[in-house]
Amino acid sequence: MGLRTPEQFRNSLKDGRIVYYKGQRVEDVTTHPVLKIGVDSSAVDYELAETPEFRELAVVQTPEGEAFSRFFLPPRSPEDLLLRRKLAETGSRICFGFPPFAKEGGSDAVNALAILTAHCDASTGSRYAKRLEAFRRTLQREDPSISITMTDVKGDRSLRPSQQADPDLYLRKVRRVDGGMIVRGAKAHITTAPYTNEFCVLPTRAMTEADRDYAVAFAIPANTKGIRIIARSGPWEEGLVDYPVANRAAMVEGLVIFEDVFIPDERIFLEGEWQFAGPLAGMFANFHRVTAAAYKYPFAELLAGAAQLIAEANGIERVAHVRDKIAWLVMYAESILALSEAACHKAIPDSLTGLYYPDPVVGNAAKFFFADNYHQAVKAVQDIAGGIIVTVPSERDWNNAETRADLEKYMAGSQKVSAEERFKVIHLVKDLVASELGGFWEVTALHAEGSLAAERLATYAHADMKRYRKAARRAAGLAPAAEAASKSR
Ligand SMILES: Cc1cc2nc3c(=O)[nH]c(=O)nc-3n(C[C@H](O)[C@H](O)[C@H](O)COP(=O)(O)OP(=O)(O)OC[C@H]3O[C@@H](n4cnc5c(N)ncnc54)[C@H](O)[C@@H]3O)c2cc1C
Repeated sequence: MGLRTPEQFRNSLKDGRIVYYKGQRVEDVTTHPVLKIGVDSSAVDYELAETPEFRELAVVQTPEGEAFSRFFLPPRSPEDLLLRRKLAETGSRICFGFPPFAKEGGSDAVNALAILTAHCDASTGSRYAKRLEAFRRTLQREDPSISITMTDVKGDRSLRPSQQADPDLYLRKVRRVDGGMIVRGAKAHITTAPYTNEFCVLPTRAMTEADRDYAVAFAIPANTKGIRIIARSGPWEEGLVDYPVANRAAMVEGLVIFEDVFIPDERIFLEGEWQFAGPLAGMFANFHRVTAAAYKYPFAELLAGAAQLIAEANGIERVAHVRDKIAWLVMYAESILALSEAACHKAIPDSLTGLYYPDPVVGNAAKFFFADNYHQAVKAVQDIAGGIIVTVPSERDWNNAETRADLEKYMAGSQKVSAEERFKVIHLVKDLVASELGGFWEVTALHAEGSLAAERLATYAHADMKRYRKAARRAAGLAPAAEAASKSR
């Protein structure tokens, strides 16, 4: 089959899956008024492959004549990583800063698994790497959407999986059965959960021997018996002027419940090798934090552009402090780009597989930089825009004959911009930084792809501290460490 069309993707979601939204079972996610927005965004990953302008970026053509999604290509060079970064960026730009996420996160998980299964096999004699490669071939042939399904609900954060009052607060293997294993538990915040084809499940953290049953990784279709998905909610109202971004694109998360789900052997990539849970989670983060920065770049562009538009609409585009803030927003956006590209340029080849992964220090810096500065960026846009972004009347008032003339008169700003245009720009800024979506993005910047603390920990763990120490010792006029050690003997 190779590449699916957007319609084939949509049709594949009518598969009997169990999805709830705001207390109601959803029969068809592709026609649900809210979930449909997410489905259509995910479909962009499929549309890119059909668009002549993006075909070369989105599709890998093999010398044997096969064609498959670039997301499913094993990265064998920094160039491969740069191209998949660019593809993630491109999808996000089309979706106003939302990653389509049909394949982005799931393929990050597959790449991490490709490396870690090889290491696990070499060290324990397991045979996961071949299974993983067979699974990757299936992805290349059948082109499903696949989500990263990692974050456990976690219960008491101070306790390890095996110490929790309820053993199901981290997803676990309940027992082995003929031809596979039975798992139970739940994964939280899973992007595209209501409308993905496959869940790629990874452990969320490092484990100890006592947590052995929690050290599991596998891939499983979303309509498998025992899986229930409760989609995140959010107040939702119609209106393309009131909510120009939120009503055009979305990623919808879900709580995914696994109630005694059978996972066949050929889909299991870790089953009890607890020593590999932490490295697997870490390797996934190496890939995924660069993907995060790739999709965030177009959103940062959007913030800079929205700040410029509202400044022009209000007639303050030449004011010094406004220009300073917009210049800072441009630096913010372009630094996200530079860091995420640098992480790919400095990619590291894995010693066993030869697969390349982004430089962990620079990749974590990319995610940390955009997350740590996100609220600062929002503050700049809010400051420039004025209070109108939370008090503006709705498009229904604009469309109401009784109030239209009032709004045309009193929504006027700069003489260079019509009242209608200003009204639309105000709503854009509101949607981006002063709405349900605005709050969603603030929290998402901090937590999705790992918390700030997680990025600091990973950076410290991977930092070449020897090099930094050496530089400081030299500057302090201290002897090189090796020399100092031999003198003290
Ligand atoms: C919009 C969105 C989309 C997401 N999409 C996905 C997805 O597709 N797939 C997926 O697997 N996950 C996804 N996530 C989950 C994301 O990776 C987590 O939110 C993130 O890892 C933080 O976990 P948490 O939300 O459970 O917060 P918590 O772990 O509760 O963290 C809250 C705070 O507590 C601190 N903390 C927690 N535990 C400890 C501890 N033991 N010691 C010290 N400090 C601690 C953290 O550092 C943080 O500061 C998504 C999240 C969001 C918001």
